[in-house]
Amino acid sequence: MLIKISYLVKPACIGWLWCVLIAGCSSVKPPEPQPAPVETSDGYPASPTPAVSPQYSEYTVKLEIQPSERLVTGVERIKIINTTDRDLDRIFINASLNAFSEGAKVQPVFKEFMDKVYPDGVNYGYIEFSNVFVDGERVDFELTDTVLSVDLPEPVPPNEWTELKMELEAKIPLMNHRTGADEESMWFGNFLPTLAVYDDEGWHTDPCYPAGDPFFRRAANFSVSITAPWEYTVAGPGIPMTIEQDGKKTTEFTSKLARGFAFALSRRYTVESVMSPSNVEISLYTFSNSARKAELLDLASRGLEYFSGRIGSYPYSQLTIAETNLFNKGGMEYPGVIFIDSEYLAESDDFESVTHEIGHQWFYNIIGNNQIDNAWMDEGLDSFVQEGFLQNGSELDEKMQAEYADLESVISQITPNTLNSGLGEFKSWADYYNIHYLRGKLLFYSLYKKIGKTDFDSFLVEYNRRFTFRIAYPNDLIQTAEDVSGSDLGEFFNAWINDPELPPLI
Ligand SMILES: [Zn+2]
Repeated sequence: MLIKISYLVKPACIGWLWCVLIAGCSSVKPPEPQPAPVETSDGYPASPTPAVSPQYSEYTVKLEIQPSERLVTGVERIKIINTTDRDLDRIFINASLNAFSEGAKVQPVFKEFMDKVYPDGVNYGYIEFSNVFVDGERVDFELTDTVLSVDLPEPVPPNEWTELKMELEAKIPLMNHRTGADEESMWFGNFLPTLAVYDDEGWHTDPCYPAGDPFFRRAANFSVSITAPWEYTVAGPGIPMTIEQDGKKTTEFTSKLARGFAFALSRRYTVESVMSPSNVEISLYTFSNSARKAELLDLASRGLEYFSGRIGSYPYSQLTIAETNLFNKGGMEYPGVIFIDSEYLAESDDFESVTHEIGHQWFYNIIGNNQIDNAWMDEGLDSFVQEGFLQNGSELDEKMQAEYADLESVISQITPNTLNSGLGEFKSWADYYNIHYLRGKLLFYSLYKKIGKTDFDSFLVEYNRRFTFRIAYPNDLIQTAEDVSGSDLGEFFNAWINDPELPPLI
């Protein structure tokens, strides 16, 4: 997400793939040759062909939406493999929508965004589960706030599969957030209940903090069908397959290897598309009459080529940009999908947020990280790599030096002010932005100056190669930078991540 807040002092504001060629599967790029495996610390066995190894969960979801009631009913199945080294006797699912239910434990919206999120007053929603089944057997479950815990009738040994089936009902609040609705449209970001990550620290079931993107997920495969009244158009990842029957339209998406599934629908959507030079179809769904659609599509195409060229190929055949109403005047990233705020679409001078969200297709979606504990790994790196799209070399130095000076002048006033600070510690979006975006970006600029452009470029490519559709932790990123540069970077990263003082820029 990009919400540009320029320093504490002026918190103005406000900002792949294997895929069998079957009808309805839109993400159809053939797998690229895979290099030799490397040891990773993400809990997955090293594999030279991660895209075809059977270690990704399979989601099969059928949803029916009644926009007039803002009601969603459906059945979600998750085929889960136990990638841990111990028996699983319990599974945790993140049900993020309940952050917006009455009585939620953690307020998911900072005060400064309340008016934009709830222009007509606070409105609540919920997600509930009527029945849960494990391998066909109805089981007990517990839903507490945003966490669904399910006791497995029998322990699942390592490398064995189990299938969870959940019957769900949800009410979408009238609000402008990642998920939300107005009179004619609904959008579903971080809506679908997803399997929590289990790693060396245990299960990650964090609540939806108001700062940052409080989501941490493994890559998985999704087959989702969405039934809505016939006049609604559904935007999602990939090329939709639609069937109309009895006044309803069912739209199906297949999304392989993605860290979540987001979609939006509107009875006012129109769609325009371009084909990027590397044959990625970019589709823009809008419900307002922007005269700048061609400009935005051209920028998105150039941005996609830029990030692909520096990091590694965009792994999907398609990218969807969908107009929604967000709490920020900017965008929000999802695998193969970008939501863009309606006001931002109307008012932005440069659509900088669009290329920022395109960068997130790599930093977080393709290369996973814990966005709750280590937000700098995606926000900081994305922000710095994006500078190469926005600036030429001399402008880059000047801009980074100015941003460093501004941040240095206020860093002692920011609490917390280190990159080892989790989302739950921030009391305002400005503080979060100043640390994880700016301090994070300056870390990567400083690394770029320290190891040089050639090694930095090699770092980006190698980081992508090692962690495509896996999870990278800070030590993985540091190790990759040390390997490509042949330098001991321990003290460098320690100072940038852990020292309350801002380290020298170079
Ligand atoms: Zn971002």
